[in-house]
Amino acid sequence: MREGVEKPDVLVDINRLDHLARIEELSDGVLRLGALAKNSETANHPLVREHYPLLSEAILAGASAQLRNSATNGGNLMQRTRCYYFYDTAMPCNKREPGSGCGAIEGFNRIHAIFGASDKCIATHPSDMCVALSALDATVQVAGLQGSRSIQFEEFHRLPKETPQVDTNLRHDELITSIDLPLSSRAYADHSYYLKVRDRASYAFALVSVAAALDIQGGVIRRARVAMGGVAHKPWRCKQSEAILTGAKPDISVFMEAAEVEMRHARGYEHNYFKIELGRRSIVRALSIARNR
Ligand code: SF4
Repeated sequence: MREGVEKPDVLVDINRLDHLARIEELSDGVLRLGALAKNSETANHPLVREHYPLLSEAILAGASAQLRNSATNGGNLMQRTRCYYFYDTAMPCNKREPGSGCGAIEGFNRIHAIFGASDKCIATHPSDMCVALSALDATVQVAGLQGSRSIQFEEFHRLPKETPQVDTNLRHDELITSIDLPLSSRAYADHSYYLKVRDRASYAFALVSVAAALDIQGGVIRRARVAMGGVAHKPWRCKQSEAILTGAKPDISVFMEAAEVEMRHARGYEHNYFKIELGRRSIVRALSIARNR
């Protein structure tokens, strides 16, 4: 709105819906993060720190302390891209103005996608928190005029395809009420790590980030979750890496193979080829640190 990209006729303030600001453990062990709970409160909550340290790390890697004190969990999910052309209303942008073209594809595309892009849009999703939520198999609870429903985190954000102006699968009349973390993802608490690579040490968006989560038992990876940020229109789950890691020994050679298999499908543009090698190394580094914890 400040940049003139959005010009809503009506703005509804939902900040007084106090019941959406809770963080609570449900009877089945699910940890429910209210949509209006603040990012800082979520990152520092004792149950999040103990059972989902990956999420804590990812949130604290994002934005600044002041922004995290104001930003809500639901708002974090609804962030739009940081593509420069999206914010420059003098430039063409299919996301801002469908059918106008994409300034980034032939322009300065250093921060843009290497996975899942289309010929309409190559933007990336800016959130750190969402990368960890994807790796932790979170679900998004939403309510609307047709009732409530639950959306798997992986299905919440969309790839650009032909309609880059549509960022999520949230319907027009729906509101996010909470984000739920499953009990089963507590198995990653001992061996997880969020690696964020950026141009400066703080208050910068990720060029590439990796959320790595390993469930290691008896010297073998029982389950693995790997997700990347800064590389696609949505948090990018590395399913091919996960398949290589599952059932393997947590050795560096396996980590390198897992990274290679995933990055083989990346596609660079004029200014962002470096992200392919950076992504490969970042996966190996994040997995190595997660294993050593
Ligand atoms: Fe717009 Fe997407 Fe192109 Fe950026 S990459 S200019 S957001 S259409």
